Amino acid sequence: MADKRVWVLGDGQLGAMLRHAGQPLAIDVRPVDIMAPSDEKLPLTDTDIITAEREQWPESPLSLQLSQHCHFINGPVFGRLADRYTQKSLLDQLKVATAPWELLDDNTQANDLYHKYGERVLLKRRTGGYDGKGQHWLKQAESTSIPADWRNQAIAEQAIPFDEEVSLVGVRSRSGECFFYPLTLNLHQDGILMASIAPLARLQPLQAEAETMLCSIMHELEYVGVMAMECFRVGDHLLVNELAPRVHNSGHWTQAGTHMDQFQLHLRALCELPLMTPQVNFQCVMVNLIGIDKDDRWLSLANAELFWYDKEVRPGRKVGHLNLSVLDKNALADSIARLQQWMPTQYQAPLMWILAEFG
Ligand code: ATP
Ligand code: MG
Repeated sequence: MADKRVWVLGDGQLGAMLRHAGQPLAIDVRPVDIMAPSDEKLPLTDTDIITAEREQWPESPLSLQLSQHCHFINGPVFGRLADRYTQKSLLDQLKVATAPWELLDDNTQANDLYHKYGERVLLKRRTGGYDGKGQHWLKQAESTSIPADWRNQAIAEQAIPFDEEVSLVGVRSRSGECFFYPLTLNLHQDGILMASIAPLARLQPLQAEAETMLCSIMHELEYVGVMAMECFRVGDHLLVNELAPRVHNSGHWTQAGTHMDQFQLHLRALCELPLMTPQVNFQCVMVNLIGIDKDDRWLSLANAELFWYDKEVRPGRKVGHLNLSVLDKNALADSIARLQQWMPTQYQAPLMWILAEFG
Protein backbone atom coordinates (compact mmCIF):
# COMPACT_ATOMS: atom_id res chain seq x y z
CA MET A 1 0.00 0.00 0.00
CA ALA A 2 1.56 3.29 -1.10
CA ASP A 3 2.10 6.01 1.51
CA LYS A 4 0.82 8.84 -0.61
CA ARG A 5 -1.12 9.33 -3.80
CA VAL A 6 -0.44 12.08 -6.34
CA TRP A 7 -2.68 12.59 -9.38
CA VAL A 8 -1.21 14.27 -12.44
CA LEU A 9 -3.40 16.36 -14.72
CA GLY A 10 -2.14 15.06 -18.07
CA ASP A 11 -0.69 11.73 -19.15
CA GLY A 12 2.25 12.56 -21.40
CA GLN A 13 5.90 11.74 -20.85
CA LEU A 14 6.27 14.10 -17.89
CA GLY A 15 3.46 12.31 -16.05
CA ALA A 16 5.04 8.96 -16.89
CA MET A 17 8.43 10.07 -15.56
CA LEU A 18 6.78 11.40 -12.38
CA ARG A 19 5.16 7.99 -11.90
CA HIS A 20 8.51 6.31 -12.41
CA ALA A 21 10.15 8.62 -9.83
CA GLY A 22 7.41 7.99 -7.27
CA GLN A 23 7.86 4.23 -7.22
CA PRO A 24 10.95 3.97 -4.95
CA LEU A 25 9.37 6.41 -2.46
CA ALA A 26 6.11 4.46 -2.38
CA ILE A 27 4.30 7.46 -3.82
CA ASP A 28 1.50 6.23 -6.03
CA VAL A 29 1.58 8.67 -8.96
CA ARG A 30 -1.38 8.49 -11.31
CA PRO A 31 -1.27 10.45 -14.56
CA VAL A 32 -4.74 11.18 -15.94
CA ASP A 33 -5.76 11.42 -19.58
CA ILE A 34 -8.23 14.24 -19.03
CA MET A 35 -9.91 13.73 -22.41
CA ALA A 36 -10.52 10.02 -21.86
CA PRO A 37 -14.22 9.23 -22.22
CA SER A 38 -15.36 8.63 -18.68
CA ASP A 39 -18.76 8.46 -17.04
CA GLU A 40 -17.17 7.78 -13.71
CA LYS A 41 -15.40 10.12 -11.35
CA LEU A 42 -11.83 9.52 -10.24
CA PRO A 43 -11.68 7.99 -6.73
CA LEU A 44 -10.02 11.08 -5.18
CA THR A 45 -9.77 11.30 -1.40
CA ASP A 46 -9.19 14.33 0.83
CA THR A 47 -5.58 13.33 1.46
CA ASP A 48 -4.69 12.98 -2.23
CA ILE A 49 -2.51 15.59 -3.91
CA ILE A 50 -3.00 16.92 -7.42
CA THR A 51 -0.35 18.33 -9.73
CA ALA A 52 -0.19 19.04 -13.48
CA GLU A 53 2.31 18.20 -16.19
CA ARG A 54 1.08 21.01 -18.46
CA GLU A 55 0.22 24.65 -17.82
CA GLN A 56 -3.02 24.69 -19.80
CA TRP A 57 -5.75 22.21 -20.43
CA PRO A 58 -9.19 21.94 -21.97
CA GLU A 59 -12.17 21.71 -19.67
CA SER A 60 -13.46 18.17 -19.28
CA PRO A 61 -15.23 16.32 -16.46
CA LEU A 62 -11.88 14.85 -15.38
CA SER A 63 -9.88 18.10 -15.60
CA LEU A 64 -12.59 19.86 -13.59
CA GLN A 65 -12.58 17.19 -10.93
CA LEU A 66 -8.79 17.41 -10.57
CA SER A 67 -8.47 21.20 -10.72
CA GLN A 68 -11.29 21.74 -8.21
CA HIS A 69 -9.78 19.40 -5.62
CA CYS A 70 -8.76 21.07 -2.34
CA HIS A 71 -5.18 19.85 -2.77
CA PHE A 72 -4.63 20.99 -6.35
CA ILE A 73 -1.19 22.46 -5.71
CA ASN A 74 -0.32 25.80 -7.39
CA GLY A 75 -3.85 26.02 -8.84
CA PRO A 76 -3.92 29.78 -9.55
CA VAL A 77 -0.33 29.78 -10.88
CA PHE A 78 -1.07 27.76 -14.01
CA GLY A 79 -3.38 30.28 -15.67
CA ARG A 80 -1.15 33.18 -14.69
CA LEU A 81 1.96 31.66 -16.27
CA ALA A 82 0.17 30.03 -19.21
CA ASP A 83 -0.71 33.50 -20.52
CA ARG A 84 2.43 35.28 -21.75
CA TYR A 85 0.79 38.64 -21.02
CA THR A 86 0.33 37.91 -17.31
CA GLN A 87 3.64 36.03 -17.13
CA LYS A 88 5.64 38.92 -18.60
CA SER A 89 3.69 41.38 -16.40
CA LEU A 90 4.78 39.37 -13.37
CA LEU A 91 8.44 39.55 -14.44
CA ASP A 92 8.15 43.33 -14.89
CA GLN A 93 6.42 43.70 -11.52
CA LEU A 94 9.27 41.79 -9.83
CA LYS A 95 11.88 43.73 -11.84
CA VAL A 96 13.25 40.45 -13.18
CA ALA A 97 15.06 41.19 -16.45
CA THR A 98 13.21 39.96 -19.53
CA ALA A 99 13.10 40.83 -23.25
CA PRO A 100 11.30 44.20 -23.70
CA TRP A 101 7.72 43.58 -24.81
CA GLU A 102 4.18 44.90 -25.09
CA LEU A 103 0.70 43.60 -25.70
CA LEU A 104 -0.29 43.59 -29.35
CA ASP A 105 -3.60 45.47 -29.24
CA ASP A 106 -6.03 46.98 -31.73
CA ASN A 107 -3.91 50.10 -32.17
CA THR A 108 -0.44 48.57 -32.44
CA GLN A 109 1.34 49.63 -35.66
CA ALA A 110 4.18 47.53 -37.06
CA ASN A 111 6.24 50.68 -37.68
CA ASP A 112 5.99 51.73 -34.04
CA LEU A 113 7.22 48.26 -33.04
CA TYR A 114 10.23 48.56 -35.39
CA HIS A 115 10.93 52.01 -34.01
CA LYS A 116 10.90 50.75 -30.42
CA TYR A 117 12.44 47.28 -30.73
CA GLY A 118 14.43 47.16 -33.96
CA GLU A 119 13.94 45.76 -37.44
CA ARG A 120 12.90 42.27 -36.29
CA VAL A 121 10.14 41.81 -33.75
CA LEU A 122 8.87 38.48 -32.49
CA LEU A 123 5.13 38.07 -32.03
CA LYS A 124 4.21 35.30 -29.59
CA ARG A 125 0.69 34.00 -29.01
CA ARG A 126 -0.37 34.63 -25.42
CA THR A 127 -1.43 31.04 -24.89
CA GLY A 128 -1.01 27.64 -26.45
CA GLY A 129 2.49 28.11 -27.92
CA TYR A 130 5.13 25.41 -27.42
CA ASP A 131 8.26 24.18 -29.18
CA GLY A 132 8.37 27.41 -31.21
CA LYS A 133 4.75 27.09 -32.37
CA GLY A 134 2.64 30.22 -31.97
CA GLN A 135 5.46 32.55 -33.03
CA HIS A 136 5.51 35.00 -35.91
CA TRP A 137 8.44 37.20 -36.93
CA LEU A 138 7.69 40.75 -38.07
CA LYS A 139 10.46 41.92 -40.38
CA GLN A 140 10.76 45.52 -41.44
CA ALA A 141 12.78 44.64 -44.56
CA GLU A 142 10.01 42.36 -45.78
CA SER A 143 7.15 44.64 -44.64
CA THR A 144 5.49 41.71 -42.86
CA SER A 145 2.12 42.66 -41.46
CA ILE A 146 0.49 41.94 -38.14
CA PRO A 147 -1.98 39.05 -38.58
CA ALA A 148 -5.43 40.43 -37.76
CA ASP A 149 -6.39 37.54 -35.49
CA TRP A 150 -3.24 37.98 -33.41
CA ARG A 151 -4.35 41.34 -32.00
CA ASN A 152 -5.04 41.06 -28.25
CA GLN A 153 -4.04 37.40 -28.55
CA ALA A 154 -0.27 37.96 -28.71
CA ILE A 155 2.60 39.97 -27.33
CA ALA A 156 5.34 41.67 -29.33
CA GLU A 157 8.86 41.05 -28.10
CA GLN A 158 12.25 42.49 -28.92
CA ALA A 159 14.56 40.06 -30.78
CA ILE A 160 17.40 39.28 -28.40
CA PRO A 161 20.82 38.69 -29.97
CA PHE A 162 21.68 36.27 -27.19
CA ASP A 163 25.00 34.46 -26.79
CA GLU A 164 23.31 31.24 -25.75
CA GLU A 165 20.30 29.83 -23.91
CA VAL A 166 20.40 28.48 -20.37
CA SER A 167 17.77 27.34 -17.91
CA LEU A 168 17.45 26.97 -14.19
CA VAL A 169 15.35 24.27 -12.56
CA GLY A 170 14.53 24.85 -8.92
CA VAL A 171 12.14 23.78 -6.21
CA ARG A 172 10.29 25.56 -3.42
CA SER A 173 8.82 23.92 -0.35
CA ARG A 174 5.56 24.91 1.27
CA SER A 175 7.55 26.64 4.02
CA GLY A 176 9.45 28.73 1.44
CA GLU A 177 12.81 26.98 1.21
CA CYS A 178 14.32 26.97 -2.29
CA PHE A 179 16.91 24.65 -3.84
CA PHE A 180 18.36 24.57 -7.33
CA TYR A 181 20.22 22.43 -9.82
CA PRO A 182 23.18 23.97 -11.59
CA LEU A 183 22.34 25.96 -14.72
CA THR A 184 21.76 23.94 -17.89
CA LEU A 185 23.03 25.01 -21.29
CA ASN A 186 20.38 24.47 -23.99
CA LEU A 187 20.44 24.36 -27.76
CA HIS A 188 17.18 25.10 -29.58
CA GLN A 189 16.71 24.56 -33.28
CA ASP A 190 13.59 25.98 -34.97
CA GLY A 191 12.19 26.80 -31.54
CA ILE A 192 12.50 23.25 -30.16
CA LEU A 193 14.99 22.00 -27.56
CA MET A 194 17.51 19.67 -29.22
CA ALA A 195 20.17 19.16 -26.55
CA SER A 196 21.26 20.22 -23.06
CA ILE A 197 24.52 20.07 -21.13
CA ALA A 198 24.89 20.40 -17.34
CA PRO A 199 26.60 21.34 -15.21
CA LEU A 200 29.18 23.60 -16.81
CA ALA A 201 31.89 25.35 -14.81
CA ARG A 202 31.78 28.33 -17.15
CA LEU A 203 28.13 29.00 -16.24
CA GLN A 204 28.81 28.98 -12.49
CA PRO A 205 29.31 32.79 -12.33
CA LEU A 206 25.67 33.21 -13.48
CA GLN A 207 24.21 30.77 -10.94
CA ALA A 208 23.60 33.29 -8.13
CA GLU A 209 21.85 35.79 -10.42
CA ALA A 210 19.65 33.02 -11.81
CA GLU A 211 18.75 31.69 -8.36
CA THR A 212 17.82 35.16 -7.13
CA MET A 213 15.47 35.60 -10.09
CA LEU A 214 13.71 32.24 -9.77
CA CYS A 215 13.56 32.54 -5.99
CA SER A 216 11.73 35.87 -6.16
CA ILE A 217 9.29 34.45 -8.73
CA MET A 218 8.52 31.32 -6.71
CA HIS A 219 8.09 33.34 -3.49
CA GLU A 220 5.74 35.82 -5.14
CA LEU A 221 3.60 32.95 -6.43
CA GLU A 222 3.85 31.01 -3.14
CA TYR A 223 4.81 28.20 -5.44
CA VAL A 224 5.31 24.61 -4.24
CA GLY A 225 7.30 22.13 -6.35
CA VAL A 226 9.64 22.29 -9.32
CA MET A 227 9.67 25.29 -11.65
CA ALA A 228 11.87 25.92 -14.68
CA MET A 229 13.12 29.29 -15.89
CA GLU A 230 14.40 29.58 -19.48
CA CYS A 231 16.89 32.40 -20.02
CA PHE A 232 19.00 34.10 -22.62
CA ARG A 233 22.61 34.78 -21.69
CA VAL A 234 23.64 38.16 -22.99
CA GLY A 235 27.25 38.76 -21.98
CA ASP A 236 27.52 38.37 -18.21
CA HIS A 237 23.79 38.63 -17.56
CA LEU A 238 20.56 36.75 -17.96
CA LEU A 239 17.21 37.77 -19.39
CA VAL A 240 14.30 35.52 -18.52
CA ASN A 241 12.62 34.16 -21.64
CA GLU A 242 9.84 32.15 -20.06
CA LEU A 243 8.74 30.19 -17.02
CA ALA A 244 7.27 26.70 -16.76
CA PRO A 245 5.39 25.77 -13.56
CA ARG A 246 6.35 22.10 -13.81
CA VAL A 247 9.13 19.65 -14.43
CA HIS A 248 10.86 20.59 -17.66
CA ASN A 249 12.66 19.07 -20.65
CA SER A 250 15.86 20.95 -19.82
CA GLY A 251 15.89 19.18 -16.43
CA HIS A 252 15.90 15.67 -17.88
CA TRP A 253 19.69 15.38 -17.48
CA THR A 254 19.09 15.20 -13.71
CA GLN A 255 17.80 11.64 -14.18
CA ALA A 256 21.33 10.48 -14.97
CA GLY A 257 23.56 13.09 -13.37
CA THR A 258 22.20 13.68 -9.89
CA HIS A 259 21.26 11.77 -6.77
CA MET A 260 17.72 13.15 -6.97
CA ASP A 261 16.13 13.95 -10.31
CA GLN A 262 13.66 16.79 -10.94
CA PHE A 263 10.72 14.38 -10.85
CA GLN A 264 11.52 13.11 -7.37
CA LEU A 265 12.30 16.66 -6.24
CA HIS A 266 8.84 17.78 -7.38
CA LEU A 267 7.12 14.86 -5.64
CA ARG A 268 9.03 15.48 -2.41
CA ALA A 269 7.93 19.12 -2.40
CA LEU A 270 4.30 18.19 -3.09
CA CYS A 271 4.28 15.54 -0.35
CA GLU A 272 6.17 17.75 2.14
CA LEU A 273 9.09 15.33 2.36
CA PRO A 274 12.66 16.49 3.10
CA LEU A 275 14.23 18.67 0.41
CA MET A 276 17.85 19.62 -0.20
CA THR A 277 20.18 20.73 -2.95
CA PRO A 278 20.46 17.61 -5.12
CA GLN A 279 23.96 16.22 -5.32
CA VAL A 280 25.44 16.22 -8.80
CA ASN A 281 27.27 12.95 -9.49
CA PHE A 282 28.60 13.76 -12.93
CA GLN A 283 28.17 16.00 -15.92
CA CYS A 284 25.55 14.96 -18.47
CA VAL A 285 24.42 15.61 -21.99
CA MET A 286 20.78 15.20 -22.96
CA VAL A 287 19.80 14.67 -26.59
CA ASN A 288 16.11 15.03 -27.42
CA LEU A 289 14.69 12.45 -29.82
CA ILE A 290 12.36 14.35 -32.12
CA GLY A 291 10.27 12.77 -34.86
CA ILE A 292 12.58 9.78 -35.30
CA ASP A 293 11.97 6.06 -34.96
CA LYS A 294 13.40 4.11 -32.06
CA ASP A 295 16.82 2.71 -32.85
CA ASP A 296 18.03 -0.09 -30.59
CA ARG A 297 21.63 0.70 -31.52
CA TRP A 298 21.32 3.60 -29.05
CA LEU A 299 21.24 0.97 -26.32
CA SER A 300 24.73 -0.14 -27.28
CA LEU A 301 26.22 3.21 -26.20
CA ALA A 302 28.21 2.58 -23.03
CA ASN A 303 27.27 5.83 -21.28
CA ALA A 304 23.69 6.34 -22.47
CA GLU A 305 20.30 5.96 -20.83
CA LEU A 306 17.33 5.90 -23.18
CA PHE A 307 13.90 7.24 -22.21
CA TRP A 308 11.46 6.28 -24.95
CA TYR A 309 8.00 7.80 -24.52
CA ASP A 310 6.19 5.22 -26.63
CA LYS A 311 4.23 7.86 -28.55
CA GLU A 312 3.34 7.77 -32.22
CA VAL A 313 6.31 9.18 -34.14
CA ARG A 314 5.43 12.36 -36.06
CA PRO A 315 7.71 15.04 -37.53
CA GLY A 316 8.70 17.58 -34.88
CA ARG A 317 7.25 15.52 -32.03
CA LYS A 318 9.31 14.76 -28.91
CA VAL A 319 9.32 10.97 -28.68
CA GLY A 320 12.19 10.34 -26.27
CA HIS A 321 15.53 11.49 -24.98
CA LEU A 322 18.99 10.08 -24.41
CA ASN A 323 21.00 11.01 -21.34
CA LEU A 324 24.74 10.55 -21.81
CA SER A 325 27.17 10.78 -18.93
CA VAL A 326 30.34 12.76 -19.45
CA LEU A 327 32.21 10.85 -16.75
CA ASP A 328 34.67 9.67 -19.40
CA LYS A 329 35.23 12.29 -22.12
CA ASN A 330 36.55 9.73 -24.60
CA ALA A 331 33.46 7.59 -24.16
CA LEU A 332 31.32 10.67 -24.77
CA ALA A 333 33.21 11.53 -27.97
CA ASP A 334 32.80 7.94 -29.11
CA SER A 335 29.05 7.93 -28.43
CA ILE A 336 28.56 11.24 -30.21
CA ALA A 337 30.53 9.96 -33.23
CA ARG A 338 28.21 6.95 -33.44
CA LEU A 339 25.11 9.13 -33.11
CA GLN A 340 26.43 11.29 -35.94
CA GLN A 341 26.36 8.20 -38.16
CA TRP A 342 23.00 6.92 -37.01
CA MET A 343 20.95 10.10 -36.78
CA PRO A 344 19.39 12.22 -39.55
CA THR A 345 20.65 15.58 -40.84
CA GLN A 346 18.86 17.77 -38.32
CA TYR A 347 20.95 16.20 -35.55
CA GLN A 348 24.33 16.99 -37.07
CA ALA A 349 24.42 20.60 -35.83
CA PRO A 350 23.36 19.74 -32.24
CA LEU A 351 25.88 16.87 -32.08
CA MET A 352 28.63 19.18 -33.31
CA TRP A 353 27.51 21.72 -30.71
CA ILE A 354 27.98 19.10 -27.98
CA LEU A 355 31.44 18.15 -29.24
CA ALA A 356 32.47 21.81 -29.44
CA GLU A 357 31.62 22.30 -25.75
CA PHE A 358 34.05 19.54 -24.81
CA GLY A 359 36.61 20.31 -27.55
P1 ATP B 1 8.63 26.04 -25.08
O1 ATP B 1 8.42 24.79 -25.88
O2 ATP B 1 9.94 26.06 -24.36
O3 ATP B 1 7.49 26.38 -24.19
P2 ATP B 1 7.86 28.18 -26.77
O4 ATP B 1 7.58 27.78 -28.16
O5 ATP B 1 6.71 28.34 -25.88
O6 ATP B 1 8.87 27.19 -26.12
P3 ATP B 1 9.83 30.29 -26.33
O7 ATP B 1 10.60 29.48 -25.38
O8 ATP B 1 9.41 31.64 -25.91
O9 ATP B 1 8.51 29.58 -26.84
O10 ATP B 1 10.64 30.42 -27.68
C1 ATP B 1 11.22 29.31 -28.31
C2 ATP B 1 12.62 29.67 -28.79
O11 ATP B 1 12.56 30.78 -29.71
C3 ATP B 1 13.54 30.12 -27.68
O12 ATP B 1 14.11 29.03 -27.01
C4 ATP B 1 14.55 30.93 -28.49
O13 ATP B 1 15.46 30.08 -29.15
C5 ATP B 1 13.69 31.62 -29.52
N1 ATP B 1 13.25 32.95 -29.02
C6 ATP B 1 12.21 33.18 -28.19
N2 ATP B 1 12.09 34.49 -27.89
C7 ATP B 1 13.10 35.12 -28.53
C8 ATP B 1 13.53 36.49 -28.62
N3 ATP B 1 12.89 37.47 -27.97
N4 ATP B 1 14.63 36.77 -29.36
C9 ATP B 1 15.27 35.78 -30.03
N5 ATP B 1 14.92 34.48 -29.99
C10 ATP B 1 13.84 34.14 -29.27
MG1 MG C 1 10.69 27.91 -24.38
